[in-house]
Amino acid sequence: MEPRVDLHVHTHMSDGTFSPAEVVDYAHKLGLSVIAITDHDCIDGVGPARARAKLYDIEVIPGVELTVEMDNIEVHILGYFIDNKNPAFEKKLKEMRDVRVKRTLTIIEKLKQFNIHLDADKVFKLSGPGAIGRLHVARVLYEEGHVATISDAFRKYIGNKGPCYVKKFKMTYQEAIAMLMDNGGVPVLAHPHVMGSDEMIPKLVQSGLRGIEVYHTDHPVAATMKYEEIAKKYKLIITGGSDCHGLGKGEILMGRVRVPAGAVEELRSEAEKIKKGQG
Ligand code: AMP
Ligand code: FE
Ligand code: FE
Ligand code: ZN
Repeated sequence: MEPRVDLHVHTHMSDGTFSPAEVVDYAHKLGLSVIAITDHDCIDGVGPARARAKLYDIEVIPGVELTVEMDNIEVHILGYFIDNKNPAFEKKLKEMRDVRVKRTLTIIEKLKQFNIHLDADKVFKLSGPGAIGRLHVARVLYEEGHVATISDAFRKYIGNKGPCYVKKFKMTYQEAIAMLMDNGGVPVLAHPHVMGSDEMIPKLVQSGLRGIEVYHTDHPVAATMKYEEIAKKYKLIITGGSDCHGLGKGEILMGRVRVPAGAVEELRSEAEKIKKGQG
């Protein structure tokens, strides 16, 4: 039987609501055999997820999701098969998370112009360990009745074009790709349809991008077909993932997305090449 795979899952080490163990338990319930833990700017969920996965016959791929800015557009880059015990890599991620803390306080300040006074401690408490992010702010905005839905929070206030948007750690795409590859990871473009522009794909490929997340819960069929063609054109590994955030976005999305058979092995062998310096 084809392995059931989800290559894009968040835990409470970033803006997911499940602990790493809960993620693995849920994956087992769904009958998945491979999942990748891909928290924003954090790899602390990988170890606990792997420990839990020993209970079942589930492989946990160590991953991460980084953010870069290209031509004023936010681009997310996934890294697969990273070494989750590399101190230099962890140090860099810690710096990125520290910027997120300051940024959250700035977002809370900006919300005051709309007469919204969020308790910073409440947002930090909800965020818990790991990386704090906008989804935590959105959830508190929602819980306190300032917005009707989580999407509203992004649309009205904190979305990329919203009045309270604040940028994160500044990193170029070249730096992000190099950071992942220096740590043995395979760089893959996350949910390209969500970026709203394909112009940067050739630049990413030139800098070492190896794969593209063609299958994603926010990709309509037409987008999926378009990115399949783009993947073929640039010889990129076709990956897929649900981008499950537990209950953070309302529904539990894990396992909902088709992932091509072979994606895991293609990523694994690419990672081996990168680790041997042949990548
Ligand atoms: P951050 O990394 O703090 O900039 O937050 C980005 C995260 O916010 C994304 O990974 C999503 O989890 C979430 N997000 C962004 N836009 C939306 C949206 N329109 N609705 C729900 N969640 C969103
Ligand atoms: Fe997220
Ligand atoms: Fe993302
Ligand atoms: Zn994600």
